[in-house]
Order: sequence, then structure tokens, then C-alpha cells
Amino acid sequence: MNAIERPGHGSQWWDKSWGPVRGCTRISEGCDNCWAQRMLHQYDKPTAVTLHPECLDAPLHWRKPRCIFVCSMSDLFHEDVPAAYSSRVLKVAEACPQHRFIYLTKRPAKMQTVVSALQYIGKGPGPNVLLGISAENQARLVERRPYLRDTPCATRVLSLEPLLGPMDLASTLGLVWEKSADTWMPSYQAKGPFPDCVIVGGESGPGARECRVEWIADIVRQCVAAGVPVFVKQLGSWWAKRFGFTKRGHSKGQCPEDWPRELWAPALGMRDLYVDENPLRQFPPVLRGGAE
Ligand code: SF4
Repeated sequence: MNAIERPGHGSQWWDKSWGPVRGCTRISEGCDNCWAQRMLHQYDKPTAVTLHPECLDAPLHWRKPRCIFVCSMSDLFHEDVPAAYSSRVLKVAEACPQHRFIYLTKRPAKMQTVVSALQYIGKGPGPNVLLGISAENQARLVERRPYLRDTPCATRVLSLEPLLGPMDLASTLGLVWEKSADTWMPSYQAKGPFPDCVIVGGESGPGARECRVEWIADIVRQCVAAGVPVFVKQLGSWWAKRFGFTKRGHSKGQCPEDWPRELWAPALGMRDLYVDENPLRQFPPVLRGGAE
């Protein structure tokens, strides 16, 4: 596979979005300040689900390798998207081995059904497809995780955004709390598959809800203990407002130089894990690509 350009400009972990479906409806509390709905409303576009088959072949024309966030303005596995159409979108990746495609959903039951059906006929997702769930709190993680685990794919992504509470990732990452060492350790009885990378971030935009630095720091610690790459996208607008960073144009808490001591690498046990210029923004191999 060709080398892919390092994705992510600052807090962004992808370098191209692709919208063969737009519009969505709320499914859980993580949707309450939905950025996509806000943008569609602002530009006077329909907020209900609309299909855009005219965009289906767009990635075929992008010659430069990209890390593509699919349906950033929707959910490909929304109940109003026919399963046959979701399959068509998934199959575009097969014709574009130069790109990596990331599909995130809050509706993983349908994702599992659609992807399993494709797998059954020998058209399952290839190595350039990353499938993931978004979970905003512990309850949603517990509810959605089994579907991700049982979906056939090479690379699984766990997106904890917008993070609305502390997360115990022990069973998700295969960890146990080692009391004597006061730290997380890999469990020998753990059963995978586990996520291949974790993305975490506080909510952004007007009315952003609380996201505490200690919640994020604890998630990073758990990922480090499990050896799973973690990408801290931003601390969120609640944190930025509270600590006065909004005036400097860093309204989402997206600049690591603003971040507090709790997120310094040594405090998180990350001394040896510096990747690129920022250890909290590890670009996992699955997102970074590279010669293979
Ligand atoms: S699932 Fe995603 S796109 Fe759909 S309403 Fe919720 S946050 Fe918005």
C-alpha cells in the first residue's frame, strides 16, 4: 500500500471527509449538541437523512492517498439508510486501496448486520476499512461495544466523543486494576478483539457540556496500560471557557500547549511513547498508514 499523508491538522485525525449520506436524527445524549445538525441548519440544508449517490465515486478520483472520514454529517447505519445503500458505500473502499476509510456509528447493530452480510458473500471490509463506534458515556459503551466486537473487520476504532463522564475501559481493553502497584495492568484472562485505537475529546460549540481533564487523563492511562494508541482530540469548549482560552481562538481546548499538568506525558506514564511532536496525539499506524 502506498504511504498515506500524515492525517490530522492540529486536532483533526482525518484529512478528508466524504458525504454519500447527509442528515441524521438523535439517538442518544451524545447527539444533543450535534455539530452536523447545526451545520446543516446553518446552511439551510435538510437535517433529515438524504442519500447522495452522485458522491459515491468521489474517492475514486482522489489520486493522493487520504484518510477519509465517511459520513461526517450523518450516520451510515441510520435506520433511514437502506442496507443496500450502506453496502454500496462500504464497497467503494475496495476500489480505492490507496485510501483509508473510517466509518463511525452510534447504530452498531445495523453495522454488524450489514457488514456480516457482506462478509458472508465474500465482500467483507478490506484492510483499508476502519469500523468504529462512538460512545459518550459508560452506559453507551456497554450497550454498543458488543456489536463492534462481533463485526468482522481488520481494524476497530473506539471514539469517546463527546466525552460526558468518566470511563472504565477495563473490560473493553482487557485490563485489571493492580492495587499494589496503583495502576492498570493487562489481564491474562482478557478476551479480545479489543479496539485498535481510541479517540477521545470533550464537546465543542455553544452549550458544550462538562468534560473533565481527569476523565481524559484516566482514559489515556488505561490505553497506555493496554498498549492501545490514543488520540486526544480536544478538551472541549466547557474546559476552554472555564479556563479562559476562548479569547485566544482555542475555543475547543484543542491546543496541547494549553493543557494542564495532569495531561503531561510523564504523569500519564507515556515517557517512552512520544510519537510525532505530541505523545497525546499518537497517530496509530492504522491512521497513519505507511509503506506496507
Ligand atoms: S448520530 Fe451523529 S450525526 Fe446523528 S444526530 Fe447523533 S451526533 Fe449527529
